[in-house]
Amino acid sequence: MKDIQEGLSLLEQGQLTSLEWVEQCLQKQKGDQSNALISVSEETLNQAKKSDEKRKNKKPIGRLEGVPLSIKDMICVKGQRTTAGSRILENYVAPYSATLIEKLEAEGAIFVGKTNMDEFGMGSRNENSAFGSVRNPWNSAHCPGGSSGGSAAAVASGLSLASIGTDTGGSIRQPASHCGLVGLKPTYGRVSRFGVIAYASSLEQAGPIARTVKDAALLFDIIAGHDPKDGTSSSEGTQAWSKNIQASVKAKKIGLVRQSFSDEVSSEVKGSIEAVRKEIEAAGGQVEEVDLKEFSALISTYYLIATCEASSNLSRYDGVRYGYQSEGVTRLEDLYVRTRSEGFGREVKKRILLGTFALSHGYYDEYYLSACRMREQLRQKFKDLFSKFDLILSPCAPTVAPKLAPKLEQKNSTQSHASTVQASKGVKKENDLQEYLEDIFTVAANLCGAPAISVPVGISQGSEKLPIGVQLMAPWFKEDTLFDAASFIEKTFEFQKIPEVVQMWGAGQSGVQS
Ligand code: GLN
Repeated sequence: MKDIQEGLSLLEQGQLTSLEWVEQCLQKQKGDQSNALISVSEETLNQAKKSDEKRKNKKPIGRLEGVPLSIKDMICVKGQRTTAGSRILENYVAPYSATLIEKLEAEGAIFVGKTNMDEFGMGSRNENSAFGSVRNPWNSAHCPGGSSGGSAAAVASGLSLASIGTDTGGSIRQPASHCGLVGLKPTYGRVSRFGVIAYASSLEQAGPIARTVKDAALLFDIIAGHDPKDGTSSSEGTQAWSKNIQASVKAKKIGLVRQSFSDEVSSEVKGSIEAVRKEIEAAGGQVEEVDLKEFSALISTYYLIATCEASSNLSRYDGVRYGYQSEGVTRLEDLYVRTRSEGFGREVKKRILLGTFALSHGYYDEYYLSACRMREQLRQKFKDLFSKFDLILSPCAPTVAPKLAPKLEQKNSTQSHASTVQASKGVKKENDLQEYLEDIFTVAANLCGAPAISVPVGISQGSEKLPIGVQLMAPWFKEDTLFDAASFIEKTFEFQKIPEVVQMWGAGQSGVQS
């Protein structure tokens, strides 16, 4: 089965039951080599049986009736362990579900697994998880991208055909791009953050990672919408996006970020952008290069704001209210210090320190405030750009998925249903800054709050054989324009028909065994 649409039509025609579909996912989970999942739910088979009964007895059914999905472990599902990839929440069981989970459940979705991730969403390679690194299913020597790397690996290898991730600076789009998938970061405020563990609240949104644009749109149809439980939730109207997709770029004005051709971008990624430009022009769209002079400040602006917000959001993990608590401590201050020192991983500690420093008296103006000013300038810049262009095109990441850090390469991380922390010492990285720079094309959408999508266009040549994706950004609340253009790219580049993809996904074949 290649995507959810195909699964749904097989269910409707009675050629597949939800039980069979869920069993297939569980079977694949057992053979998982990517370490994509942190926990699996015991309830899924019963849920699938109930769903099949509903269908058989012609009871009212939801838009995702009986469809197995996986969920990033940053999102609370009532009664299930929710770790955020951290030792500090290793045994935390969510007492309530996120609003987006309730919406998916109301439409009949079945959650077959909570996916691995960089701790608290901090990372671009999924090497910062307390539950071990995730491997890219296309090439296990490489990372799947991060921080929703477990979700992307799960979808690419069929442990579920779609997943919900979160994106603070690219964590849906970049792993989607590295794993040959479609990833949508919605407009800020479109999807409720209630029940989504906070990393940097002013930047993040939850959204779908899927194999096709239509599947991504279908999930978005369901999770989008106003939620009184989230003070930043938007009341902007929603629609059935998945039903209204027009695969077209005709007469669309598209700004192509000039820095897509800078030295840091690999020649294959540049080639893909050129190819996309040509196809858009051939289909009646207009492409014009735009210079983003703020480009060189994007990473520092993002990492300042993100770490400042993280230092505040993560102060709640104090060993008192919930989560891990250090043992044998007698003084309160020691409790805080020891719990946090033992519970958080290296990257998280580093960011808490950075954020606390940047917010401290005497440095606040110089760091946090100037980052906020830069953010405002950037927002203004995109406002101007969107008065001239319908979309902004760029790569999603400067290169294909990087190799996993050498030390973890040696590690045995094939245990898919990790129930204990595997790698709390983390990995030895050569250059943290290099990893930050991998977010260069994705962070602008978060800083501005605008929606963006990544869509796969090809597979790299040579022995690595890794997917390449491009990114489209649209004006606030114009997800419909994103879906139309992404669908055009999907149809034109026929990613699913590339021989390597057919081999991996059985794309184009129907039936339950593919
Ligand atoms: N790589 C970025 C970071 O580490 C983005 C992560 C995300 O979107 N959650 O902050």
